[in-house]
Amino acid sequence: MERTLAMIKPDGLSGNYTKEIKEAILESGFDIIEEAVVLLDAERASLFYAEHAARSFFDSLVKYMTSGPVHAMVLERYDAITHWRALIGPTDARKAKTSHPNSIRAMCGLDSEKNCVHGSDSLQSAAREISFFFKDVKSE
Ligand code: ATP
Repeated sequence: MERTLAMIKPDGLSGNYTKEIKEAILESGFDIIEEAVVLLDAERASLFYAEHAARSFFDSLVKYMTSGPVHAMVLERYDAITHWRALIGPTDARKAKTSHPNSIRAMCGLDSEKNCVHGSDSLQSAAREISFFFKDVKSE
């Protein structure tokens, strides 16, 4: 069984989408292995998105990710990484609304930054991101 790191971002929590998102997760055959609601500070948010440090949107991204708590979850199912990325839809929530109307980002995202949820994009990033939030949880 494969595991991935899912995260409901601050706009998802402030918009009260947690219940709907968790229903979509369970209906799609994932088990929620571990979960935690945490407030990231600028240092932790910068570390999580370190690969984007040189991008023009980085400061804004860190501000967004520290604007309120996030809800991190370890999800498990067959082919979890690919299935969770498919369920959340494209990065830009405006595109999601037209091209992937049943996706989570279409439901609760706003634009290419405030897109409501995160999903690991590879086995390597899933391992890093799971241990980022859950030190003692195995990534596979
Ligand atoms: P995530 O890693 O959060 O699941 P993603 O893999 O779809 O998202 P990335 O390209 O890794 O997208 O970007 C990470 C995050 O940075 C995005 O989810 C979004 O919040 C923000 N972001 C990406 N592109 C832009 C942009 N052009 N302008 C503003 N914010 C952006």
